[in-house]
Amino acid sequence: MFHYENEQLLCEQTGLDEIARATGTPCYVYSSAAILGAYRAYHTALSGIPHVICYAVKANSTLAVLALLAKEGCGFDIVSGGELYRVLKAGGDPARVVFSGVGKTSEEIEFALRSGICNFNCESEGELAEIDAVAGRLGVTARFSLRVNPDVDAVTHPYISTGLRDHKFGIDIADAPAVYGRARAFTNLRASGVSCHIGSQILDYAPILEAAGKVLDLIERLRAEGHGIDHVDLGGGLGIAYQEADNAPGIGEFIAALRGRLEGAGLTVMVEPGRSIVGNAGVLLTKVLYRKQSPAKEFVIVDAAMNDLIRPALYKAHHEILPLRREAGLEIVADVVGPVCETGDFLARDRSLTAPRQGDFLAIASAGAYGFVQASNYNSRPRPAEVLVEGGEWRVVRKRETPEDLINGETL
Ligand SMILES: *Cc1c(COP(=O)(O)O)cnc(C)c1O
Repeated sequence: MFHYENEQLLCEQTGLDEIARATGTPCYVYSSAAILGAYRAYHTALSGIPHVICYAVKANSTLAVLALLAKEGCGFDIVSGGELYRVLKAGGDPARVVFSGVGKTSEEIEFALRSGICNFNCESEGELAEIDAVAGRLGVTARFSLRVNPDVDAVTHPYISTGLRDHKFGIDIADAPAVYGRARAFTNLRASGVSCHIGSQILDYAPILEAAGKVLDLIERLRAEGHGIDHVDLGGGLGIAYQEADNAPGIGEFIAALRGRLEGAGLTVMVEPGRSIVGNAGVLLTKVLYRKQSPAKEFVIVDAAMNDLIRPALYKAHHEILPLRREAGLEIVADVVGPVCETGDFLARDRSLTAPRQGDFLAIASAGAYGFVQASNYNSRPRPAEVLVEGGEWRVVRKRETPEDLINGETL
């Protein structure tokens, strides 16, 4: 959805230069067509199998993005009461919400039960007891699945791998039958599914297939033991191409590989994609403030920083950097850095790019997932504006923060 026409970078039919000039920078821009296209790719690939696509809200929780998906009938995977609040504000259907995460508080559990969410993905026996207690108090029955840890290696960055034995997530798959057995004692709970999620930015989906196989075997056993399991939740994690060398599988190809095991299983299939829905649907626009040559290195200093997009600093993540206006020029190798007072504040290191001039706009690509959601006010920097593009039209869906926003809630 991002492409050059007459050497100008467009999002759908909208020139990004126009947005940068009108809203200022830094500014996130999202393509509604890209978001909907990815959602529909999952929906189409799963046709013929009962399914619910639960978009992982933590990847990008901007109301306008959630509303776009809610209107399509998308479900949501939440990891906090705050995310549930956002989903409801955006018009999401609580009956298509699943609640994941290792540390749900009793207040969050109560909010979720009162809202009528579909299912809790539980990660410990203590949590089962807590949900049972809250459900009992409210006089409702809570549906749950255990998030099992299938002990497969997702082969991704260690910070976003979650499916190994020594990770904090889930319950060891070998212990799961006993835990489901003990959970029968909780009178306000009903075991309705099994879930897993082994990591993020997974480019080789073989480990997801392996995990799915183990989970489906577990479901067969649980059913034989009399548990009324009606759904399997395979989590999210499908990777995207951040650069040409990344061999990201297509959504259709990935689901097709799973289909054989899912067809005829008599289960509703849930998936929780985040990054693969929004990651390549967004860019972060920034302006070149200065260029600077040190004895060892050349720097391009821009007005976006690690507080706006932390992925390069946190995971050494690669993001392509594209000029909004493509011109012939001198090729340089430079670090693209922000104004924050940290050596870790870089958007790219040793990057070849056409030498930009002061005032030029650049787009940091693939910034739609885990971008704005991880933005902070570090260095008392206002968080950026966000824009949603629909064809040739665009609108600001979140205003840039102001100095007043920075001190909101504080007293002397
Ligand atoms: C983060 C997360 C997801 C989404 O992961 P992506 O890699 O963005 O698809 C899905 N489910 C759970 C439980 C998660 O924690």
